[in-house]
Amino acid sequence: MLFLLDSHCDAPLMLAKGADFGRRVEQGFTPGRFPITHVDFQRMKKGGVNGSFFAIYTSCALTPDQATRRAFELISRVYDAVEQNPDQVAFATTPAQARRNAHNGLISIFMGMENGAPIQKDLSMLRMFRRLGITYMTLTHARSNEICDSCTSPEPRWGGLSPFGREVVEEMNRIGMMIDVSHISDDSFWDVLRYSKAPVVATHSCCRALSDHPRNMTDEMIVALAEKGGVIQVNFYPSFLDTTYAVKASALIDAQEDMQDVWLKDPSDPAVQEKMRAAVEALKAIPRPSYKRIVDHIDHVVKLVGVKHVGLGSDFDGIEVCPEGLDDISRMQKIIIELRKRGYSEYEIRHIAGGNFLRVMEQVQRLPE
Ligand SMILES: [Zn+2]
Repeated sequence: MLFLLDSHCDAPLMLAKGADFGRRVEQGFTPGRFPITHVDFQRMKKGGVNGSFFAIYTSCALTPDQATRRAFELISRVYDAVEQNPDQVAFATTPAQARRNAHNGLISIFMGMENGAPIQKDLSMLRMFRRLGITYMTLTHARSNEICDSCTSPEPRWGGLSPFGREVVEEMNRIGMMIDVSHISDDSFWDVLRYSKAPVVATHSCCRALSDHPRNMTDEMIVALAEKGGVIQVNFYPSFLDTTYAVKASALIDAQEDMQDVWLKDPSDPAVQEKMRAAVEALKAIPRPSYKRIVDHIDHVVKLVGVKHVGLGSDFDGIEVCPEGLDDISRMQKIIIELRKRGYSEYEIRHIAGGNFLRVMEQVQRLPE
């Protein structure tokens, strides 16, 4: 059976803002609506999605206690949304559970934690988040933290993993939690590969050979990740898919993000609504790469390491723009169709669509004797 899996989206941010995923989330620029959203349970169903990892994301700007509190808040929102919609979705923490959910006609909601800040410097907190259902942890986000350096920190703090970061890697191996190398610096990546006994995942990253961005992985990194049995899940963010777009859009993306902060503070002000709309429209006016560019990145990984080390990690609800033709999760089948057009067999597509990621998850969760 084909299990279509998205290994990373920021949907909990929308839940925290009050979105009701049981119904189609209303889009718009007035209070109670959402300027840009990509995910809800109905759209997931329309897209034929069988499982999705909801990211428990915390910003590196938060203090440790704020980060921990925020993580609990987001986890609660995900629990609430799942419990309120038992006819559409169910929790999953293992591949076996996810397959059972699919058999029962339910979409699986997994949780990953994006940024290890909420565990502070305490491995027992890591174990607690694991018990709450977090199955992977992205070691850091946009800045270095207590665990390792980020690929977008201005200055390296540790030159890779910190001493505590090594303990985190060891403990994640021991408790069967997947290590996510998206967002971490190249030096941190090589350290993780050296110290992890289990395969690791990049839940939402693209290929640097096709688009030169520090968030993307070099061919050398992709080969080493695959040799260790891991998987890279291609991100849908146009700025990671395509360098030309990234250069053209960067100023407008910043403007849109700033405007969104203002809008969030008071969405009832008509002048702010208008400015928010204008910022979104200005960004949308720049020609975006087609969704087929996602499949170019898949092709590139396949050429390097074969079909068993690549998948999909949309980053929906965490990105301001989507590729042309793939404006939300309801369009996910277009990628499957494009893979077929490019000559991938059904067996290969099953691996790319979700089989590879579930295989790594199974392997990581098989605890060492
Ligand atoms: Zn991210």
